[in-house]
Amino acid sequence: MPKVLDGAAIAAAIKLEVAEDVRALAVHGVRPGLAAVLVGNVAASEIYVRSKVQACADLGIYSDLITPPESVSTDEMLALVDKLNHRNDIDGILIQLPLPKHVDTKALLDAVDPAKDVDGFHPMNAGRLQAGRPALAPCTPAGVIEILRRSGIAMSGQHAVVVGRSDIVGKPAAMLLLHQNATVTICHSKTRDLGEVTRQADILVAAIGRPGFITPEMVKPGATIIDVGINRLTTREEFDRYFAGDAKREAIFSKRGSTIVGDVHPKAFELAGAYTPVPGGVGPLTIAMLMANTVRAARMRREL
Ligand code: NAP
Repeated sequence: MPKVLDGAAIAAAIKLEVAEDVRALAVHGVRPGLAAVLVGNVAASEIYVRSKVQACADLGIYSDLITPPESVSTDEMLALVDKLNHRNDIDGILIQLPLPKHVDTKALLDAVDPAKDVDGFHPMNAGRLQAGRPALAPCTPAGVIEILRRSGIAMSGQHAVVVGRSDIVGKPAAMLLLHQNATVTICHSKTRDLGEVTRQADILVAAIGRPGFITPEMVKPGATIIDVGINRLTTREEFDRYFAGDAKREAIFSKRGSTIVGDVHPKAFELAGAYTPVPGGVGPLTIAMLMANTVRAARMRREL
């Protein structure tokens, strides 16, 4: 039976450590602070940001939720970021994506002080990560490493195949795996014979954004599968494609009218040595690592 890597339990352990760090900083009169900027009324973004603000409250981190209207301009957002860059009570700035189309997302992410860039999206932090210098790493890929590390899964010398090359997940995940001495292959939509490559993976990271894309024949038996994908299924046809006969999922689907599936087909997990489930795998780590980055930023900024 494959081992299920319990992301929720790992995230809880990290949060306990972060709360401990927050208490240690209090001795120096420091309370880490996170500004969360939520533009407009995107339902999913509201849920994410509220859970981030709640996590701050749980761990003793100060948070300031700022909610500009959908109509906000790039200039107004740049002025807001500038203000946050200069506020001493703010150690981390989180701009929840996606932003409305008329707002220049890149310009905004570039405007965040790299020392407060707790999402790790600033090119300066991406460069530092690549150069192997201390950096605020993007939260989801950092969470992937924590899951592997804390589950005792060897990375050194292993062949890690990352499917997806986004700046937010795929690329930084590959870089972090490289720093752990894995032999890393990055795949994307133009990769030829994808299954041929993924079948070589000792550690397979799927960050594609396509439901159940990694099928059993793409997996080497015994591999560790890290499924970063989050895809919502809302129709019976979609549901049956992945979860026909799964009573637990059926109950969720009947109750809520939807369920989520990762980028890995549930049948592919059966071949794994270990895997992260969706939900309850990588997802919970993202917020835990955001909290960890906020405390780290607070410490680094004050050279503590
Ligand atoms: P993204 O920016 O859309 O990137 C998707 C990547 O997958 C791209 O590099 C793309 O290749 C590649 N891809 C698409 N179709 C492919 C194919 N047929 N074969 C091989 N590669 C293919 O997505 P993302 O932001 O990285 O997110 C990926 C997934 O992770 C999504 O499901 C997202 O919801 C999830 N996610 C989860 C968390 C979490 O907290 N758990 C956080 C962030 C994202 P090209 O570059 O060639 O187009």
